[in-house]
Amino acid sequence: MQANILNSNVLVLNKLWQPIEICSVRRAFCLLYLRHAQVVLKEGGSFYTFGFEEWRDFSQNSTVNTDIIKTITYKIRIPRIILLLFYDRFPPREVKFTRRNIYIRDQNTCQYCGKKFDSKDLNLDHVIPLSRGGKDTWENVVCSCVPCNLHKSNKTLTEAKMHLIRKPKKPSWRSFVKEGLIKIKEESWKDFLDIAYWNVELKQD
Ligand SMILES: [Zn+2]
Repeated sequence: MQANILNSNVLVLNKLWQPIEICSVRRAFCLLYLRHAQVVLKEGGSFYTFGFEEWRDFSQNSTVNTDIIKTITYKIRIPRIILLLFYDRFPPREVKFTRRNIYIRDQNTCQYCGKKFDSKDLNLDHVIPLSRGGKDTWENVVCSCVPCNLHKSNKTLTEAKMHLIRKPKKPSWRSFVKEGLIKIKEESWKDFLDIAYWNVELKQD
């Protein structure tokens, strides 16, 4: 349970309060602890920021029962938005090609059988196997459960008589963040994503 919470999504803002990426709760705590970031919390229409110690103290009186992590000595509420204190670059608007981001794109769903799994029960599969000239790209790498992965092995889709539930492609930054938004139903993200939506430079995905 706690491991799942630690892997859930946190919106990251640069020091100009622009959304730049989604990270895990685990990484967010790391950044907070190192004083590279602060928690952003919206209450009563205003935004407040907290350093790690302030956030820990604030969490003790929290009446929220969900989103709490208990350590041996204290409890701490998990952040949903963090603000980087030193990074002021403009949003990259590019979703990085990482294992975590492929899992988010595919919503932890095996792209062959269509079933949802825990991250630990999923693998990455090359649609065209590497040994057959397939590449490490958004279009060629998908989430796969272990049985589907074993069945497909080193075969192409035709050879394995399998098909993909949807065509894999590189996610646009906005659709990507929106999926995270839907998943955690975090109202407070909306403020930042709306700003990002209206200010983003238009280009073809
Ligand atoms: Zn499967």
